Amino acid sequence: MRYVMALDQGTTSSRAILFDHDGNVHAIAQREFAQHFPQPGWVEHDATEIWQSQIAVAAEVLKNAGLASKDIAAIGITNQRETTVLWDRATGQPLHKAIVWQDRRTAPLCDTLRAAGHEAVFTARTGLLLDPYFSGTKLHWLLDYIPGARKRAEHGELAFGTIDSWLIWNLTGGRLHITDASNASRTLLYNIHTGNWDDELLQILNIPNAVLPKVRPSSEHYCSTDSVLLGGEIPIAGIAGDQQAATFGQACLTPGMAKNTYGTGCFMLMNTGSQAVPSKNRLLTTVAWQLQGQHTYALEGSIFMGGAIIQWLRDGLGIIKASPDVEALAASVPDSDGVTLIPAFAGLGAPWWKPEARAALIGMTRGTTRAHIARAALDAIVLQSADLLAAMESDSGIKLAELRVDGGASRNNLLMQLQADMLGVPVIRPRVVETTALGAAYLAGLATGFWHSAEDVAAHWQVDQRFDPGISEDEQQTRLQRWQTDVKRQTAA
Ligand code: ADP
Repeated sequence: MRYVMALDQGTTSSRAILFDHDGNVHAIAQREFAQHFPQPGWVEHDATEIWQSQIAVAAEVLKNAGLASKDIAAIGITNQRETTVLWDRATGQPLHKAIVWQDRRTAPLCDTLRAAGHEAVFTARTGLLLDPYFSGTKLHWLLDYIPGARKRAEHGELAFGTIDSWLIWNLTGGRLHITDASNASRTLLYNIHTGNWDDELLQILNIPNAVLPKVRPSSEHYCSTDSVLLGGEIPIAGIAGDQQAATFGQACLTPGMAKNTYGTGCFMLMNTGSQAVPSKNRLLTTVAWQLQGQHTYALEGSIFMGGAIIQWLRDGLGIIKASPDVEALAASVPDSDGVTLIPAFAGLGAPWWKPEARAALIGMTRGTTRAHIARAALDAIVLQSADLLAAMESDSGIKLAELRVDGGASRNNLLMQLQADMLGVPVIRPRVVETTALGAAYLAGLATGFWHSAEDVAAHWQVDQRFDPGISEDEQQTRLQRWQTDVKRQTAA
Protein backbone atom coordinates (compact mmCIF):
# COMPACT_ATOMS: atom_id res chain seq x y z
CA MET A 1 0.00 0.00 0.00
CA ARG A 2 1.71 3.08 -1.24
CA TYR A 3 -0.73 5.93 -0.61
CA VAL A 4 -3.11 7.53 1.83
CA MET A 5 -6.23 9.25 0.50
CA ALA A 6 -7.47 12.51 1.95
CA LEU A 7 -11.08 13.53 1.34
CA ASP A 8 -11.10 17.32 1.61
CA GLN A 9 -14.74 18.40 1.69
CA GLY A 10 -14.60 22.20 1.41
CA THR A 11 -17.17 24.97 1.18
CA THR A 12 -17.13 25.24 -2.59
CA SER A 13 -15.65 21.93 -3.76
CA SER A 14 -14.99 18.33 -2.81
CA ARG A 15 -11.48 17.05 -3.41
CA ALA A 16 -9.67 13.75 -3.10
CA ILE A 17 -5.88 13.80 -2.83
CA LEU A 18 -3.44 10.88 -2.72
CA PHE A 19 -0.28 11.35 -0.68
CA ASP A 20 2.79 9.14 -0.83
CA HIS A 21 4.91 8.04 2.08
CA ASP A 22 6.99 11.23 2.01
CA GLY A 23 3.86 13.37 2.31
CA ASN A 24 3.99 14.49 -1.33
CA VAL A 25 0.88 14.93 -3.47
CA HIS A 26 0.61 12.07 -5.98
CA ALA A 27 -2.79 12.84 -7.57
CA ILE A 28 -5.77 15.18 -7.11
CA ALA A 29 -9.39 15.15 -8.27
CA GLN A 30 -11.79 18.01 -7.56
CA ARG A 31 -15.43 18.83 -8.20
CA GLU A 32 -17.42 21.96 -7.38
CA PHE A 33 -20.99 21.83 -6.18
CA ALA A 34 -23.91 24.27 -5.98
CA GLN A 35 -24.28 27.02 -3.39
CA HIS A 36 -27.87 27.89 -2.44
CA PHE A 37 -28.86 31.33 -1.12
CA PRO A 38 -32.59 31.07 -0.36
CA GLN A 39 -32.71 34.42 1.50
CA PRO A 40 -30.22 37.18 2.32
CA GLY A 41 -27.81 35.81 4.94
CA TRP A 42 -28.87 32.20 4.38
CA VAL A 43 -26.45 29.69 2.80
CA GLU A 44 -27.31 26.06 2.11
CA HIS A 45 -25.72 23.02 0.45
CA ASP A 46 -27.43 19.90 -0.82
CA ALA A 47 -25.95 17.19 1.44
CA THR A 48 -26.70 14.51 -1.16
CA GLU A 49 -24.80 16.47 -3.79
CA ILE A 50 -21.89 16.86 -1.36
CA TRP A 51 -21.79 13.10 -0.84
CA GLN A 52 -22.07 12.36 -4.54
CA SER A 53 -19.33 14.83 -5.46
CA GLN A 54 -17.08 13.46 -2.71
CA ILE A 55 -17.42 9.79 -3.66
CA ALA A 56 -17.07 10.70 -7.34
CA VAL A 57 -13.70 12.42 -6.81
CA ALA A 58 -12.50 9.53 -4.64
CA ALA A 59 -13.19 7.09 -7.49
CA GLU A 60 -11.78 9.52 -10.05
CA VAL A 61 -8.47 10.07 -8.29
CA LEU A 62 -7.92 6.30 -8.10
CA LYS A 63 -8.80 5.87 -11.76
CA ASN A 64 -6.61 8.76 -12.93
CA ALA A 65 -3.66 7.43 -10.96
CA GLY A 66 -4.24 3.89 -12.22
CA LEU A 67 -4.68 2.59 -8.68
CA ALA A 68 -7.13 0.32 -6.87
CA SER A 69 -8.49 0.24 -3.31
CA LYS A 70 -5.76 -2.24 -2.32
CA ASP A 71 -3.14 0.45 -3.01
CA ILE A 72 -4.65 2.76 -0.39
CA ALA A 73 -3.60 2.28 3.22
CA ALA A 74 -6.27 4.52 4.71
CA ILE A 75 -8.69 7.39 4.15
CA GLY A 76 -8.56 10.60 6.21
CA ILE A 77 -11.41 13.10 6.19
CA THR A 78 -11.23 16.85 6.59
CA ASN A 79 -14.19 19.10 6.12
CA GLN A 80 -15.77 22.54 6.09
CA ARG A 81 -16.59 22.93 9.75
CA GLU A 82 -19.88 23.64 11.55
CA THR A 83 -22.10 22.97 8.50
CA THR A 84 -25.09 21.08 9.83
CA VAL A 85 -26.87 18.04 8.36
CA LEU A 86 -29.94 16.25 9.74
CA TRP A 87 -30.94 12.92 8.23
CA ASP A 88 -33.29 9.98 8.70
CA ARG A 89 -31.47 6.95 10.09
CA ALA A 90 -33.84 4.52 8.36
CA THR A 91 -33.63 5.92 4.83
CA GLY A 92 -30.34 7.82 5.02
CA GLN A 93 -32.09 10.80 3.42
CA PRO A 94 -31.43 14.36 4.63
CA LEU A 95 -34.54 16.08 6.01
CA HIS A 96 -33.44 19.49 4.78
CA LYS A 97 -30.59 21.13 2.91
CA ALA A 98 -27.42 21.42 5.00
CA ILE A 99 -27.10 24.78 6.78
CA VAL A 100 -23.66 26.14 5.96
CA TRP A 101 -21.27 27.71 8.49
CA GLN A 102 -21.68 31.11 6.81
CA ASP A 103 -25.45 31.09 7.36
CA ARG A 104 -26.70 33.84 9.71
CA ARG A 105 -30.35 32.73 10.15
CA THR A 106 -29.90 31.93 13.83
CA ALA A 107 -28.61 35.40 14.79
CA PRO A 108 -31.92 36.24 16.57
CA LEU A 109 -31.71 32.99 18.57
CA CYS A 110 -28.13 33.83 19.57
CA ASP A 111 -29.30 37.29 20.68
CA THR A 112 -32.07 35.73 22.77
CA LEU A 113 -29.68 33.28 24.40
CA ARG A 114 -27.23 36.08 25.12
CA ALA A 115 -29.95 38.28 26.59
CA ALA A 116 -30.96 35.38 28.84
CA GLY A 117 -27.41 35.38 30.22
CA HIS A 118 -26.28 32.08 28.68
CA GLU A 119 -23.12 33.19 26.86
CA ALA A 120 -20.77 32.67 29.80
CA VAL A 121 -21.72 29.03 30.26
CA PHE A 122 -21.38 28.29 26.53
CA THR A 123 -17.95 29.95 26.43
CA ALA A 124 -16.72 28.23 29.58
CA ARG A 125 -17.73 24.77 28.37
CA THR A 126 -17.17 24.98 24.61
CA GLY A 127 -14.53 27.72 24.16
CA LEU A 128 -16.85 29.37 21.59
CA LEU A 129 -19.05 32.46 21.45
CA LEU A 130 -22.80 32.59 20.92
CA ASP A 131 -22.67 33.15 17.18
CA PRO A 132 -24.73 31.66 14.33
CA TYR A 133 -21.44 30.37 12.87
CA PHE A 134 -21.52 27.25 15.09
CA SER A 135 -23.72 24.16 14.59
CA GLY A 136 -25.80 24.10 17.79
CA THR A 137 -28.25 26.87 16.94
CA LYS A 138 -28.51 25.61 13.35
CA LEU A 139 -29.57 22.18 14.63
CA HIS A 140 -32.05 23.85 16.99
CA TRP A 141 -33.51 25.70 14.01
CA LEU A 142 -33.90 22.48 11.97
CA LEU A 143 -35.60 20.65 14.85
CA ASP A 144 -38.04 23.57 15.23
CA TYR A 145 -38.67 24.13 11.55
CA ILE A 146 -39.24 20.57 10.30
CA PRO A 147 -42.63 19.33 11.50
CA GLY A 148 -42.27 16.49 14.01
CA ALA A 149 -38.47 16.51 13.83
CA ARG A 150 -37.78 17.06 17.53
CA LYS A 151 -40.08 14.18 18.55
CA ARG A 152 -38.49 11.90 15.96
CA ALA A 153 -35.04 12.95 17.15
CA GLU A 154 -36.02 12.10 20.73
CA HIS A 155 -37.07 8.63 19.56
CA GLY A 156 -33.67 8.09 17.95
CA GLU A 157 -35.01 8.14 14.39
CA LEU A 158 -32.88 11.06 13.21
CA ALA A 159 -29.15 11.70 13.04
CA PHE A 160 -27.33 15.04 13.24
CA GLY A 161 -23.84 15.47 11.94
CA THR A 162 -21.27 17.89 10.64
CA ILE A 163 -19.99 17.00 7.17
CA ASP A 164 -17.46 14.46 8.49
CA SER A 165 -20.28 12.48 10.16
CA TRP A 166 -22.40 12.63 7.04
CA LEU A 167 -19.58 11.37 4.81
CA ILE A 168 -18.68 8.52 7.18
CA TRP A 169 -22.31 7.48 7.49
CA ASN A 170 -22.43 7.19 3.71
CA LEU A 171 -18.98 5.65 3.30
CA THR A 172 -19.97 2.88 5.71
CA GLY A 173 -23.44 2.28 4.28
CA GLY A 174 -25.05 3.73 7.42
CA ARG A 175 -23.13 1.51 9.87
CA LEU A 176 -21.36 4.30 11.72
CA HIS A 177 -22.58 7.60 13.18
CA ILE A 178 -19.47 9.31 14.57
CA THR A 179 -17.54 12.56 14.58
CA ASP A 180 -14.15 13.51 16.02
CA ALA A 181 -13.35 15.84 18.88
CA SER A 182 -12.12 18.67 16.61
CA ASN A 183 -15.44 18.80 14.76
CA ALA A 184 -17.47 18.26 17.94
CA SER A 185 -15.71 21.28 19.43
CA ARG A 186 -17.40 23.52 16.82
CA THR A 187 -20.98 22.59 17.67
CA LEU A 188 -21.61 24.62 20.88
CA LEU A 189 -22.74 21.30 22.39
CA TYR A 190 -19.44 19.65 23.29
CA ASN A 191 -17.62 20.21 26.54
CA ILE A 192 -14.01 20.57 25.43
CA HIS A 193 -12.73 19.98 28.97
CA THR A 194 -14.54 16.70 29.76
CA GLY A 195 -14.73 15.43 26.19
CA ASN A 196 -18.49 14.79 26.35
CA TRP A 197 -21.67 16.24 24.92
CA ASP A 198 -22.82 18.68 27.60
CA ASP A 199 -26.26 17.89 29.03
CA GLU A 200 -26.89 21.41 30.30
CA LEU A 201 -26.10 23.00 26.93
CA LEU A 202 -28.25 20.39 25.16
CA GLN A 203 -31.07 21.31 27.49
CA ILE A 204 -30.70 25.06 26.87
CA LEU A 205 -30.82 24.44 23.12
CA ASN A 206 -33.54 21.78 23.44
CA ILE A 207 -31.54 19.16 21.55
CA PRO A 208 -32.09 15.47 22.37
CA ASN A 209 -28.99 13.42 23.05
CA ALA A 210 -30.24 10.60 20.80
CA VAL A 211 -29.64 12.68 17.66
CA LEU A 212 -25.90 13.15 18.29
CA PRO A 213 -22.98 11.17 16.85
CA LYS A 214 -20.48 9.37 19.04
CA VAL A 215 -17.31 11.43 19.52
CA ARG A 216 -14.11 9.56 18.65
CA PRO A 217 -10.40 10.47 18.58
CA SER A 218 -9.12 12.20 15.42
CA SER A 219 -6.84 9.29 14.51
CA GLU A 220 -8.19 5.75 14.85
CA HIS A 221 -9.28 2.92 12.55
CA TYR A 222 -13.03 3.60 12.88
CA CYS A 223 -14.35 1.23 10.23
CA SER A 224 -13.76 0.44 6.57
CA THR A 225 -15.56 1.79 3.54
CA ASP A 226 -18.42 -0.25 2.13
CA SER A 227 -16.71 -2.47 -0.46
CA VAL A 228 -19.15 -1.59 -3.27
CA LEU A 229 -18.10 2.08 -3.26
CA LEU A 230 -14.44 2.05 -4.30
CA GLY A 231 -13.91 -1.50 -5.50
CA GLY A 232 -12.87 -2.85 -2.10
CA GLU A 233 -12.74 -1.91 1.55
CA ILE A 234 -10.42 0.91 2.66
CA PRO A 235 -9.90 1.75 6.36
CA ILE A 236 -11.29 5.13 7.42
CA ALA A 237 -8.82 6.25 10.04
CA GLY A 238 -8.58 10.04 10.44
CA ILE A 239 -10.97 12.97 10.90
CA ALA A 240 -10.35 16.67 11.60
CA GLY A 241 -12.03 19.98 10.79
CA ASP A 242 -10.25 21.88 8.02
CA GLN A 243 -8.33 24.44 10.10
CA GLN A 244 -7.27 21.88 12.69
CA ALA A 245 -6.19 19.49 9.93
CA ALA A 246 -4.10 22.28 8.39
CA THR A 247 -2.43 22.87 11.76
CA PHE A 248 -1.55 19.16 11.89
CA GLY A 249 -0.44 19.19 8.24
CA GLN A 250 1.87 22.11 9.08
CA ALA A 251 3.34 19.91 11.81
CA CYS A 252 2.51 22.52 14.47
CA LEU A 253 2.62 19.65 16.92
CA THR A 254 4.06 21.28 20.04
CA PRO A 255 2.72 24.12 22.22
CA GLY A 256 3.49 27.59 20.89
CA MET A 257 3.65 26.56 17.23
CA ALA A 258 1.20 28.41 14.98
CA LYS A 259 0.02 28.54 11.40
CA ASN A 260 -1.84 31.18 9.43
CA THR A 261 -3.84 30.30 6.33
CA TYR A 262 -4.18 33.15 3.82
CA GLY A 263 -7.30 32.32 1.81
CA THR A 264 -10.43 34.39 1.30
CA GLY A 265 -10.18 35.11 5.02
CA CYS A 266 -7.27 34.27 7.28
CA PHE A 267 -7.33 31.61 9.97
CA MET A 268 -4.63 31.58 12.61
CA LEU A 269 -4.32 28.70 15.06
CA MET A 270 -1.79 28.32 17.85
CA ASN A 271 -1.21 24.94 19.48
CA THR A 272 -1.54 25.33 23.27
CA GLY A 273 -0.89 21.67 24.08
CA SER A 274 -2.91 20.04 26.84
CA GLN A 275 -4.09 23.46 28.11
CA ALA A 276 -7.45 24.79 26.91
CA VAL A 277 -6.50 28.46 27.20
CA PRO A 278 -9.48 30.77 27.74
CA SER A 279 -9.33 34.01 25.76
CA LYS A 280 -9.63 37.52 27.12
CA ASN A 281 -9.65 38.88 23.56
CA ARG A 282 -12.63 36.97 22.19
CA LEU A 283 -10.54 34.44 20.34
CA LEU A 284 -11.88 30.90 20.27
CA THR A 285 -10.56 28.01 22.31
CA THR A 286 -10.91 24.81 20.36
CA VAL A 287 -9.84 21.18 20.21
CA ALA A 288 -7.01 20.90 17.71
CA TRP A 289 -7.15 17.09 17.67
CA GLN A 290 -7.50 14.12 19.94
CA LEU A 291 -4.85 11.42 19.72
CA GLN A 292 -5.71 8.38 21.81
CA GLY A 293 -7.24 9.79 24.98
CA GLN A 294 -5.42 13.10 24.87
CA HIS A 295 -6.90 16.38 23.64
CA THR A 296 -4.55 18.95 22.14
CA TYR A 297 -6.06 22.43 22.21
CA ALA A 298 -5.60 25.56 20.12
CA LEU A 299 -6.42 29.23 20.22
CA GLU A 300 -8.06 30.32 16.99
CA GLY A 301 -8.59 33.72 15.45
CA SER A 302 -10.06 34.55 12.10
CA ILE A 303 -10.09 37.56 9.81
CA PHE A 304 -13.00 37.94 7.39
CA MET A 305 -11.10 39.84 4.70
CA GLY A 306 -7.72 38.38 3.77
CA GLY A 307 -7.25 37.45 0.11
CA ALA A 308 -10.74 38.88 -0.36
CA ILE A 309 -9.20 42.39 -0.10
CA ILE A 310 -7.16 41.53 -3.18
CA GLN A 311 -10.32 40.36 -4.92
CA TRP A 312 -11.81 43.76 -4.14
CA LEU A 313 -8.82 45.49 -5.79
CA ARG A 314 -9.50 43.29 -8.80
CA ASP A 315 -13.32 43.32 -8.97
CA GLY A 316 -14.33 46.43 -7.03
CA LEU A 317 -11.62 48.88 -8.09
CA GLY A 318 -10.38 47.13 -11.25
CA ILE A 319 -6.77 48.17 -10.53
CA ILE A 320 -5.40 44.66 -11.15
CA LYS A 321 -6.48 41.95 -13.61
CA ALA A 322 -5.66 38.91 -11.48
CA SER A 323 -4.87 38.49 -7.79
CA PRO A 324 -1.17 37.66 -8.27
CA ASP A 325 -0.72 41.02 -10.12
CA VAL A 326 -0.94 42.78 -6.76
CA GLU A 327 2.59 41.74 -5.88
CA ALA A 328 4.39 43.59 -8.70
CA LEU A 329 2.12 46.62 -8.35
CA ALA A 330 2.68 46.90 -4.59
CA ALA A 331 6.41 46.31 -5.02
CA SER A 332 6.67 49.26 -7.43
CA VAL A 333 6.55 51.67 -4.46
CA PRO A 334 8.73 51.53 -1.33
CA ASP A 335 5.70 51.79 0.98
CA SER A 336 2.08 52.97 1.05
CA ASP A 337 3.21 56.59 1.61
CA GLY A 338 0.91 56.99 4.59
CA VAL A 339 -2.18 55.41 3.00
CA THR A 340 -4.07 53.01 5.28
CA LEU A 341 -6.79 50.61 4.17
CA ILE A 342 -9.08 49.58 7.00
CA PRO A 343 -10.73 46.50 5.52
CA ALA A 344 -13.98 46.49 7.50
CA PHE A 345 -15.95 45.48 4.40
CA ALA A 346 -17.90 43.03 6.55
CA GLY A 347 -17.21 44.63 9.90
CA LEU A 348 -14.01 43.68 11.75
CA GLY A 349 -13.45 40.33 13.45
CA ALA A 350 -11.07 39.37 16.23
CA PRO A 351 -9.78 41.09 18.23
CA TRP A 352 -11.75 44.23 17.30
CA TRP A 353 -15.23 42.70 16.95
CA LYS A 354 -16.88 45.67 15.28
CA PRO A 355 -19.67 44.17 13.16
CA GLU A 356 -21.07 47.57 12.18
CA ALA A 357 -17.77 49.17 11.12
CA ARG A 358 -17.35 50.28 7.50
CA ALA A 359 -14.17 50.04 5.47
CA ALA A 360 -12.03 53.12 4.80
CA LEU A 361 -9.10 54.25 2.72
CA ILE A 362 -7.37 57.11 4.51
CA GLY A 363 -4.25 59.25 4.35
CA MET A 364 -4.24 59.90 0.59
CA THR A 365 -2.58 62.87 -1.16
CA ARG A 366 -2.51 64.08 -4.78
CA GLY A 367 0.52 61.81 -5.17
CA THR A 368 -1.35 58.64 -4.19
CA THR A 369 -1.48 56.02 -6.95
CA ARG A 370 -3.01 52.61 -7.36
CA ALA A 371 0.37 51.19 -6.36
CA HIS A 372 0.07 52.82 -2.93
CA ILE A 373 -3.42 51.42 -2.56
CA ALA A 374 -2.19 47.94 -3.53
CA ARG A 375 0.56 48.29 -0.95
CA ALA A 376 -1.92 49.41 1.70
CA ALA A 377 -4.04 46.35 0.85
CA LEU A 378 -1.14 44.00 1.58
CA ASP A 379 -0.40 45.97 4.75
CA ALA A 380 -4.02 45.48 5.84
CA ILE A 381 -3.74 41.69 5.64
CA VAL A 382 -0.45 41.76 7.48
CA LEU A 383 -1.58 44.17 10.19
CA GLN A 384 -4.79 42.27 10.92
CA SER A 385 -2.76 39.08 11.30
CA ALA A 386 -0.38 40.92 13.63
CA ASP A 387 -3.36 41.98 15.78
CA LEU A 388 -4.52 38.36 15.97
CA LEU A 389 -1.12 37.12 16.94
CA ALA A 390 -0.75 39.78 19.63
CA ALA A 391 -4.09 38.64 21.08
CA MET A 392 -2.93 35.03 21.04
CA GLU A 393 0.37 35.79 22.68
CA SER A 394 -1.39 37.80 25.35
CA ASP A 395 -3.93 35.01 26.03
CA SER A 396 -1.45 32.15 26.01
CA GLY A 397 1.59 33.87 27.50
CA ILE A 398 3.55 32.12 24.73
CA LYS A 399 5.88 34.11 22.49
CA LEU A 400 5.77 32.90 18.90
CA ALA A 401 9.08 31.59 17.48
CA GLU A 402 7.98 31.34 13.85
CA LEU A 403 4.77 31.45 11.82
CA ARG A 404 4.03 28.72 9.29
CA VAL A 405 1.88 29.84 6.38
CA ASP A 406 -0.29 28.37 3.65
CA GLY A 407 -3.33 29.25 1.50
CA GLY A 408 -3.57 30.92 -1.91
CA ALA A 409 -2.24 34.34 -0.91
CA SER A 410 0.81 32.84 0.86
CA ARG A 411 2.31 32.49 -2.62
CA ASN A 412 2.81 36.28 -2.57
CA ASN A 413 6.44 36.76 -1.49
CA LEU A 414 6.09 40.47 -0.77
CA LEU A 415 3.08 39.78 1.47
CA MET A 416 5.05 37.15 3.37
CA GLN A 417 8.05 39.48 3.77
CA LEU A 418 5.80 42.27 5.06
CA GLN A 419 4.25 39.76 7.47
CA ALA A 420 7.65 38.75 8.85
CA ASP A 421 8.56 42.45 9.24
CA MET A 422 5.36 43.18 11.10
CA LEU A 423 5.54 40.16 13.42
CA GLY A 424 9.25 40.35 14.10
CA VAL A 425 9.48 36.56 13.69
CA PRO A 426 10.36 34.37 10.69
CA VAL A 427 7.48 33.44 8.38
CA ILE A 428 7.92 30.03 6.79
CA ARG A 429 6.14 28.59 3.78
CA PRO A 430 6.36 24.82 3.36
CA ARG A 431 6.89 22.92 0.10
CA VAL A 432 3.58 21.11 0.35
CA VAL A 433 0.91 23.79 0.71
CA GLU A 434 -1.99 21.28 0.64
CA THR A 435 -1.74 21.29 4.40
CA THR A 436 -5.43 20.68 5.14
CA ALA A 437 -5.60 17.46 3.14
CA LEU A 438 -2.14 16.47 4.31
CA GLY A 439 -3.18 16.81 7.95
CA ALA A 440 -6.13 14.47 7.40
CA ALA A 441 -3.86 12.02 5.57
CA TYR A 442 -1.36 12.09 8.43
CA LEU A 443 -4.07 11.40 11.02
CA ALA A 444 -5.28 8.41 8.98
CA GLY A 445 -1.81 7.11 8.20
CA LEU A 446 -0.75 7.30 11.84
CA ALA A 447 -3.67 5.12 12.92
CA THR A 448 -2.90 2.43 10.37
CA GLY A 449 0.88 2.21 10.71
CA PHE A 450 1.56 3.89 7.34
CA TRP A 451 3.43 6.45 9.42
CA HIS A 452 4.73 5.58 12.84
CA SER A 453 4.77 8.69 14.98
CA ALA A 454 4.07 12.40 15.03
CA GLU A 455 7.85 12.90 14.83
CA ASP A 456 7.83 10.76 11.70
CA VAL A 457 5.31 13.07 9.99
CA ALA A 458 6.95 16.24 11.32
CA ALA A 459 10.18 15.10 9.65
CA HIS A 460 8.46 15.37 6.21
CA TRP A 461 7.68 19.03 6.68
CA GLN A 462 10.06 20.93 4.41
CA VAL A 463 10.70 24.61 3.92
CA ASP A 464 9.96 26.13 0.54
CA GLN A 465 10.88 29.67 1.56
CA ARG A 466 11.72 31.47 4.78
CA PHE A 467 11.14 35.21 5.28
CA ASP A 468 13.16 36.86 8.03
CA PRO A 469 12.10 40.15 9.62
CA GLY A 470 13.88 43.01 7.90
CA ILE A 471 12.92 46.11 9.88
CA SER A 472 13.82 47.33 13.34
CA GLU A 473 11.55 46.74 16.30
CA ASP A 474 11.06 50.52 16.57
CA GLU A 475 9.87 50.73 13.00
CA GLN A 476 7.59 47.73 13.54
CA GLN A 477 6.04 49.31 16.64
CA THR A 478 5.56 52.67 14.90
CA ARG A 479 3.65 51.04 12.04
CA LEU A 480 1.56 48.94 14.39
CA GLN A 481 0.64 51.95 16.51
CA ARG A 482 -0.32 54.03 13.50
CA TRP A 483 -2.56 51.19 12.32
CA GLN A 484 -4.19 50.81 15.70
CA THR A 485 -4.84 54.53 15.97
CA ASP A 486 -6.38 54.53 12.49
CA VAL A 487 -8.60 51.51 13.25
CA LYS A 488 -9.76 53.05 16.53
CA ARG A 489 -10.60 56.32 14.84
CA GLN A 490 -12.51 54.60 12.05
CA THR A 491 -14.43 52.15 14.24
CA ALA A 492 -15.38 54.91 16.68
CA ALA A 493 -16.94 56.88 13.82
P1 ADP B 1 -10.08 29.79 -0.27
O1 ADP B 1 -9.60 28.41 0.11
O2 ADP B 1 -10.54 30.64 0.86
O3 ADP B 1 -10.99 29.81 -1.46
P2 ADP B 1 -7.41 30.11 -1.44
O4 ADP B 1 -6.48 29.52 -0.45
O5 ADP B 1 -7.65 29.38 -2.71
O6 ADP B 1 -8.76 30.56 -0.76
O7 ADP B 1 -6.84 31.58 -1.80
C1 ADP B 1 -7.53 32.43 -2.66
C2 ADP B 1 -7.41 33.86 -2.17
O8 ADP B 1 -6.06 34.27 -2.24
C3 ADP B 1 -8.20 34.83 -3.03
O9 ADP B 1 -8.87 35.72 -2.16
C4 ADP B 1 -7.16 35.57 -3.84
O10 ADP B 1 -7.52 36.93 -4.04
C5 ADP B 1 -5.93 35.49 -2.97
N1 ADP B 1 -4.69 35.40 -3.74
C6 ADP B 1 -4.33 34.46 -4.62
N2 ADP B 1 -3.10 34.69 -5.10
C7 ADP B 1 -2.66 35.82 -4.50
C8 ADP B 1 -1.45 36.58 -4.56
N3 ADP B 1 -0.43 36.21 -5.33
N4 ADP B 1 -1.37 37.68 -3.78
C9 ADP B 1 -2.37 38.04 -2.97
N5 ADP B 1 -3.52 37.36 -2.88
C10 ADP B 1 -3.67 36.27 -3.64
